[in-house]
Amino acid sequence: MSDRSWQNQSPGDLSISLPRVTPTPVGPALAGAQGAARSWAKTPLPERMALLQAVEADLAAIREELAMGIAVETGKPLTEARGELGAVLGKFALTFRDAGDYIATRTTEGGPYEAQVRHLARGPAVVIGPFNFPLHLANGAIVPHLLAGNPVLFKPSPVGAVVAARYAAVFSQHLPAGVFQLVQGGAEEGMALCQAPCVRNICFTGSVKAGQAIAKALAGDFTKDLALEMGGKNALILLDDGDPAAAARAAADGMCATAGQRCNDTSRAIIHRNHATAFTSALIEELKRYQPGDPCDAATTLGVLATRPAHQRYAAALAADAGDGWLQTGTALDSCGGRRGYYVTPAVRLWNSFDRAMQCPLIAEELFAPLLDVFVVDDEEQMLALHDAAPYGLAASIFTSSRAHFEAFGSDLRVGNLYANLPTTYSPSILPFGGCGLSGNGRPAGRGFIRFTTDEQAVQFGPGLRAC
Ligand code: NAD
Repeated sequence: MSDRSWQNQSPGDLSISLPRVTPTPVGPALAGAQGAARSWAKTPLPERMALLQAVEADLAAIREELAMGIAVETGKPLTEARGELGAVLGKFALTFRDAGDYIATRTTEGGPYEAQVRHLARGPAVVIGPFNFPLHLANGAIVPHLLAGNPVLFKPSPVGAVVAARYAAVFSQHLPAGVFQLVQGGAEEGMALCQAPCVRNICFTGSVKAGQAIAKALAGDFTKDLALEMGGKNALILLDDGDPAAAARAAADGMCATAGQRCNDTSRAIIHRNHATAFTSALIEELKRYQPGDPCDAATTLGVLATRPAHQRYAAALAADAGDGWLQTGTALDSCGGRRGYYVTPAVRLWNSFDRAMQCPLIAEELFAPLLDVFVVDDEEQMLALHDAAPYGLAASIFTSSRAHFEAFGSDLRVGNLYANLPTTYSPSILPFGGCGLSGNGRPAGRGFIRFTTDEQAVQFGPGLRAC
């Protein structure tokens, strides 16, 4: 039998090797979840909540260790990784509140009999996570599933396997056997979990390719509920009455967050021609704030790409079609500050004519690196056509000085997250988060995700019941 274990290297310092990771046998994990499902569903909600509060407290106690673990293993700058831990911890209280809003038993008036709407735990849930938020995005599905009474099988990205294991150990320590299990591995383990007959819910966050493979494998199986959170090709749109300096600041922040490796990063800027010069010159100034550096240094603003293939893809994109010229030539560096790693500098490419812009090789494709295509156009019809040329619908931000103008233009954009005068990456946990088109299938994560973790049951009390 071949050895499928692997060992991650720190992408910010390839001389650092992390502990070896071995794939988890899927069968026993599934049996454990199945065995725990009934009693966990019957555990009263306040008890489940108390156990999760204990998990939260222990995660809070190691938040800095986890943040550093993310920085070392995935190359996310430490300051951003600390922000990710803030989101992880904040999710607990938000989910406890969401339980009251979304899954509390409701009495329904007006029918012939006393009636209630109850929410039943669905059963074992699989949570598959991506590398770029190795804890936060999975945690956003794990906590609601557990609170609602579903055992969870968590399959993290192999790229963030070590930090995920540290996070998972805290859950395993506090929860009854089988209620929470870590399944290490790749596509093979992920797919085996999704296809297991006992699994009822699947929350997948990752690429369109993998999401489509899961959806295809489950086609026709209506017993499973599948939530897909996938990629983005997000646009910042500067209308003729918008502020080019503010738009440039947001574009720089939106393209450089996590070195371009966020699903809601800005990869396209669609700019009214009147603002072309002001926007592009301000953008180049703003980008000076983003210098590559050691991800583990809290002063670093631009981290590294997480893997060698991503670094190679970025280098290839920089060597491809130059459009109407590079406003800033990015680089895929072999090292920085004496450390070998997948370092990059941001790139900005210009497209000056609408017809050529529609031919931009990356207009419909997510690169996941800090490359921004700037499209300079003449009117809002062209802006809309360019926006809609990408099959995704995760986030878009409109820069305008008029609320009415925002509403008029924004009403045509089919995206899950719409912003006025903010970066496309601004997504606080108090709101739902999801996308249209290839970005998702209408079960937004973030706030309120708990509503996808139960089945509704209508209960009616006919005549002849004693009170006890
Ligand atoms: P990926 O699709 O390569 O991997 C994601 C997870 O899916 C990993 O755990 C991986 O092991 C697993 N997987 C891969 N193929 C599978 C298969 N056939 N069956 C079952 N599981 C499989 O994605 P990634 O590179 O880790 O993450 C980057 C992608 O995630 C980008 O496209 C990004 O836009 C997207 N993303 C989306 C959101 C969102 O909320 N919409 C958030 C973060 C990242």
